[in-house]
Amino acid sequence: MTDKRDLLILGGGLVGMTLALAAAKKGLSSHLVDRADPASLTADGFDGRASAISTASWRLFRHVGLEETLEPHGCDIAAIAVLDQMKRGRLDFRPEPHEGTLGRMFANRQLRLALHEAAKKEPLISWHAPVEVLSRDRSEFGVSATLGDGTVLEAALMIGAEGRGSPSREEAGFKMASWDYSHRAMITGLDHSKSHENIAWEIFYPDGPFALLPMLDGPDGQHRSALVWTVDEKDAAGVLKLSDRAFLAEVHKRMGDLLGELTLNSSRSSYPLSFQHTAKIVEHRLALVGDSAHGMHPIAGQGLNLGLRDVGALVEVLDEALRLGLDLGDAQVLAKYEKWRALDSLMVMGATDSLTRIFGIPGKTASAVRRLGMAGIQRTSWLKAFFMNEARGVSGDLPELLKA
Ligand SMILES: Cc1cc2nc3c(=O)[nH]c(=O)nc-3n(C[C@H](O)[C@H](O)[C@H](O)COP(=O)(O)OP(=O)(O)OC[C@H]3O[C@@H](n4cnc5c(N)ncnc54)[C@H](O)[C@@H]3O)c2cc1C
Repeated sequence: MTDKRDLLILGGGLVGMTLALAAAKKGLSSHLVDRADPASLTADGFDGRASAISTASWRLFRHVGLEETLEPHGCDIAAIAVLDQMKRGRLDFRPEPHEGTLGRMFANRQLRLALHEAAKKEPLISWHAPVEVLSRDRSEFGVSATLGDGTVLEAALMIGAEGRGSPSREEAGFKMASWDYSHRAMITGLDHSKSHENIAWEIFYPDGPFALLPMLDGPDGQHRSALVWTVDEKDAAGVLKLSDRAFLAEVHKRMGDLLGELTLNSSRSSYPLSFQHTAKIVEHRLALVGDSAHGMHPIAGQGLNLGLRDVGALVEVLDEALRLGLDLGDAQVLAKYEKWRALDSLMVMGATDSLTRIFGIPGKTASAVRRLGMAGIQRTSWLKAFFMNEARGVSGDLPELLKA
């Protein structure tokens, strides 16, 4: 007998995995397929990145039962400070204590470990990894994927969650708006002598942003931050070749004594940065979530958060369809998901792209104009409140799973 499930989720990254868990909480069964070995995905050093998890995304993690596992690993973001290079005129976003934080920082490895542990325990998830998907099929009555070992997995709806290079998106022929920023993000962990005081620093240079994100102190009380330093692609090879000592000297040049003396606490890695977006995210018995639908510059730490909002919206429309006795691949159900996600996705992608470009304009005049704009925002409380709500992910038409 074939094990036909509700969902065939292709890609078990942070978004696909959260989707499988959120769907299971609503009684939806899934095949969750990933070509990577789960042990290598969670190995030390595989993904040295850290993610800013917004208030709304944290609620989703809580709803899917990850609060207890994740809580001890999160570092609160109490404030965000924005600087144009290290020049005067800092823009601060600091909510009042009763308004809560601006999110929390987690090492991606901790997020993956928590998701994997929960998925293993969830009987409604059938997890297939590492496996190659040889072919995908969407017919009138259902969808299927044929795996490398000949197994055929069947479901009512296929979800493309394979990230930026999504083959299910490519096969469906969605048109993508895409461009390369010619930027590369250098990632590493820093120990530093001064406390970060739970402040996330965004320091903008014409070559790209330089972000210091607060992390929990290390086992011996060392203060820690995650560094995301964006460099021009033409300089990337040179930066990657620097010795640790020379790398730290370059880092110090860009942040001064903000956090005191610096040492590296992890290996260095790098990610090429590009923009890609498709307005159409559903097709016959297919829906896209996460980076399969939208890949952006990490300047505002919004990519994963946007993907988690996709998860909340998709699960909500599927749950409604289930209760109404509709087919999960019903075109109207999927159209509702697409419509719901369109505005949020476009706004976040547009804002992120504009920010990258505005701060990328070189020269003293551009810098002076930017700092004038920043000073204006600094003095305008409603504008600051607007930006803080965006960072928390609590504005707009939120899915139930992302509400308190
Ligand atoms: C430097 C950097 C910093 C970032 N910081 C933040 C942040 O602070 N906050 C934030 O919200 N976002 C951040 N992001 C963005 C965030 O990391 C991504 O948006 C998020 O990881 C996307 O998750 P995903 O599951 O959609 O895709 P992916 O993480 O790409 O996962 C895709 C999965 O699909 C699998 N796969 C691929 N192809 C196939 C196939 N053919 N068959 C089966 N499986 C397949 C892969 O093995 C992988 O497990 C950052 C990104 C970068 C580059």
